[in-house]
Amino acid sequence: MIRNAAEFTFSWSLRRQEMWNCCRRKYFLHYYAARGGHDPDSGGELRRLHEMRSLLSERAYLHRLIAAELRRRFYRPHEEEDAELPDSEADPYGAVPGRLRREFRRMLRDEFRTDHAHPMLAALYYNSTPPGELLRELEKRLRNAMTAMSSGPLAMLARTRYLFRRPIDSPLEVAVGELRCFAAPILAFEEKGVLTIVEGSGADSTVLLHKFHAANKLHIPPERVRSLELIPGKGALRLAGKELNISRTLREIRGGAAEMLNAVRPDGTVREEDFPRNPAHCTLCRFRGHCR
Ligand code: SF4
Repeated sequence: MIRNAAEFTFSWSLRRQEMWNCCRRKYFLHYYAARGGHDPDSGGELRRLHEMRSLLSERAYLHRLIAAELRRRFYRPHEEEDAELPDSEADPYGAVPGRLRREFRRMLRDEFRTDHAHPMLAALYYNSTPPGELLRELEKRLRNAMTAMSSGPLAMLARTRYLFRRPIDSPLEVAVGELRCFAAPILAFEEKGVLTIVEGSGADSTVLLHKFHAANKLHIPPERVRSLELIPGKGALRLAGKELNISRTLREIRGGAAEMLNAVRPDGTVREEDFPRNPAHCTLCRFRGHCR
């Protein structure tokens, strides 16, 4: 399979870097081979590859549900303009269990096949776990995470005055010099002159992108930016970047991007054969249906 790299705008993200580090073939399939397969008329192999590209692990799906709920609660409109009301959500689990069951039914009805924007679990797609067992396990993990969250992050975020809550895009495009990068923040707030950004990653590169975003767009200096990593399973918000070395992290991001761009041949093509497989990661890989 051959693609023309000029048809793809390059950007760096932690997810992209992790995929590159995990399996080069997976990187090629995700970022080049499957592009365009969202169109229902694309058909054939391209459509199938895009189907696989869109699959979610249980962990990623639960994280997505929880992050969306957190964002919804944090930014939902208040009844009064400057309301300083406590979070009035009666049910600590909020809308999440209902959404899980609704989406799971849609997965079983295969609605994903016609629209890849609907979530789909790899375990269902590949029939690796019976649906009933899978749903029970997801509900259990979700309940545990939301219970842990309600006494920690949810309570803490609910106390954040509405006036201090700051809208933030997700995904968030961040310019690092000439390099386009992306982060995936969940929410942000600014108190006592410090901007706090919550994200599901506590990697140094994520912390650095938060600081670049704050400096580029909000003119907030790096020392007044704090990154918190959301760990839903533990119901915790952990301070990230305690040992951040800005120049080393910048070198790592730029070095990773340069390495990926070097995989483009001088004639401007990217070719599947140049991206070796890594069988160590096949068992749970979304693309295992393609590679077998
Ligand atoms: S199935 Fe294995 S070789 Fe293929 S993309 Fe996934 S990890 Fe790589």
